[in-house]
Amino acid sequence: MLDVCLLGTAGMMPLPYRWLTSLMTRYNGSSLLIDCGEGTQIAMKQKGWSAKPIDTICFTHYHADHISGLPGLLLTMGNAERTEPVTMIGPKGLERVVNALRTIAPELPFEIRYVELSQPVEHLQEQGYCITAFKVNHNIACYGYTLEIPRAGQFQVEQAQKLGIPQNCWSRLQKGETLELNGNIYTPEMVLGAPRKGIKLTYCTDTRPVPAITENAKNADLLIIEGMYAEKEKAAKAKQYKHMTFYEAARIASDANVADMWLTHFSPSLVHAEGYMEEVRRIYANAKLGKDGKTVELDFEQEKSS
Ligand SMILES: [Zn+2]
Ligand SMILES: [Zn+2]
Repeated sequence: MLDVCLLGTAGMMPLPYRWLTSLMTRYNGSSLLIDCGEGTQIAMKQKGWSAKPIDTICFTHYHADHISGLPGLLLTMGNAERTEPVTMIGPKGLERVVNALRTIAPELPFEIRYVELSQPVEHLQEQGYCITAFKVNHNIACYGYTLEIPRAGQFQVEQAQKLGIPQNCWSRLQKGETLELNGNIYTPEMVLGAPRKGIKLTYCTDTRPVPAITENAKNADLLIIEGMYAEKEKAAKAKQYKHMTFYEAARIASDANVADMWLTHFSPSLVHAEGYMEEVRRIYANAKLGKDGKTVELDFEQEKSS
C-alpha cells in the first residue's frame, strides 16, 4: 500500500491555509518527498508525518517555491538524529544548488547522495519505488515524476509442489529471492505467475502540456498535476510563464486515461476554484481540486476471484 499526501497546493508563494505544492509518500517504512518549498515541513507537521524517514527527495526544478524549504527540513532531520543517507534526485545542477542552500545548514549527521538528471527520461530504483523522471517544458529545466510500486506475479502453489520446492523456501521466493538448497537453485520465475498491475502515481507541475506527461501518466491510479490558472482570460499568461490551465490539465488526464486526478500549484490570485470545476469535469469526469493535506491510500488491485 502506498500512502500519499499532497502537503500543499500553492504555486509561487505560500498563503495562509495554502502551503506550497509538495507531495509526500510512504511505502514499506520509507518516505519520499517531491519538492520542498518554504513551509513544507510545517505542512508535514500538520499532517503528522515525520521527516526522519525521508530517504528520497525529488525536485522538479529549482524555482524557490519548490526548494527553498530544504535547509530547514534537513536541519529537522538532523535534529531527529537521522544517520542514514538521503538520496536527492533533480535536474542538472542539483549538488551546486543544494550546497548553496546548505551554507545555512552545513553540519548534518547524514550523507547526501546526488542523482542529477540529464536525459529526457530516466529510470531509478529507490527503496522499493520505481521512479521515472521525465523532462517537461518550463522556463528552466524541469522534470515530472512517476512513482511505481511493482507487483510480482501470484505464487503458483501447484507448480512449487510439482518442482518439489520445500515449503520453507516459498515466502522468500515470493519476495523475489533466488535460493540454493542441497545443490538445487530455485528462482522466483519458477513459481510466480506473470507480473500483476502495480501502483502508479504521477506528479507533474510547472510545465506547458507536453506529450511526455501523457505518456508517463498512462493508466496511472492518480495524476497530481498543476492547474495554475482557471480563468479563461489567463490562458495567454499560462503560455507566457510556461504553466497550465485547469482545462489543459484535464485534457492530459483524459488522454492518459488515469483513474483519478488532483489539481495543484494554484496561482495566489485564484479564489473560488470550485466554480470552474463543472467545466473541467466535462473534459475529465474524475477531476478534483487538490487540498492541503489531501490524502489517499493507493492499494494493489483486488484479486479477481476465479
Ligand atoms: Zn512553481
Ligand atoms: Zn517554476
